[in-house]
Amino acid sequence: MQTAYIGHPDCLKHDMGMGHPECPQRLTAIENELQATGLLAQLQCYEAPLATTDQLARVHALGYIESIRQAAPTAGLIALDADTAMNPFTLSAALRAAGAVVLAAELVLMGTVNNAFCATRPPGHHAESDRAMGFCLFNNVAVGVAHAIRQHQLQRVAILDFDVHHGNGSEEIFHDNPHVMLCSTFQHPFYPYSGANSGNDRIINVPLRRDADGAVFRQVVNEHWLPELDRFKPEMIFVSAGFDAHRDDDMSQVHFSDDDYVWITQQIRAIAEQYSQDRIVSVLEGGYELRSLARCVAAHVRVLHAQEI
Ligand SMILES: [Zn+2]
Repeated sequence: MQTAYIGHPDCLKHDMGMGHPECPQRLTAIENELQATGLLAQLQCYEAPLATTDQLARVHALGYIESIRQAAPTAGLIALDADTAMNPFTLSAALRAAGAVVLAAELVLMGTVNNAFCATRPPGHHAESDRAMGFCLFNNVAVGVAHAIRQHQLQRVAILDFDVHHGNGSEEIFHDNPHVMLCSTFQHPFYPYSGANSGNDRIINVPLRRDADGAVFRQVVNEHWLPELDRFKPEMIFVSAGFDAHRDDDMSQVHFSDDDYVWITQQIRAIAEQYSQDRIVSVLEGGYELRSLARCVAAHVRVLHAQEI
């Protein structure tokens, strides 16, 4: 498989202050691991472009996009919500994190690569059409999905979200869109306290109790995600790839292992092979314990890149 790896140095300069878990070192840890394991040399590396206002406006209100541009400080930090802030580099990082997914979608849909991983931050799945929250400014995956639908006329796109938090932004944006299926698992009740009762026949939300482990995760994917994906037959798959359900990550009380991330990536590859011409765009969301984050991203990318599933 040809796999694109998309990032940008600006994503390392977005910094929400000392001790914030969504820190630049997340990307450094990932890149060091990919380098050390020899995987990085096998990937097609691209710099993320800035998303355009037109691309963002497919999923975000124009007034909201303008308010984020206006809020960008020239020095220091400004708070957008209790745990989301902007420094002078945040606007550029956020535009590149969204632009990365647009580029990834283009590369995959043009057949330049089979699949892609966006190693970018800030993450996106909590960002709603007109609201920044939960470390997220723009909904990067949603911007890429909307690009694939509008620019390439795809009729059925799936978002698979295994971050430990409910992707409230992705759900708000696509809740009533017949072209998008969103399958997610998340700890519940837990931040952002949504998703347990808001699904429909294309929004497949599976709450996990605290202390759920990988066996529970595999069972709910087999019972809830896979039959719905068989029914929907996505032409392309986007992944909100969060690694904060790992047992070493104290952001949550769910206990996935490294092997669970290998397993879910194999399932995604199999669905993509069956229905989606192998087209997968995976995008970093959460994951805050640096060692398990780096290992599991490498394992995820290794499966994306592997010749055999
Ligand atoms: Zn998360």
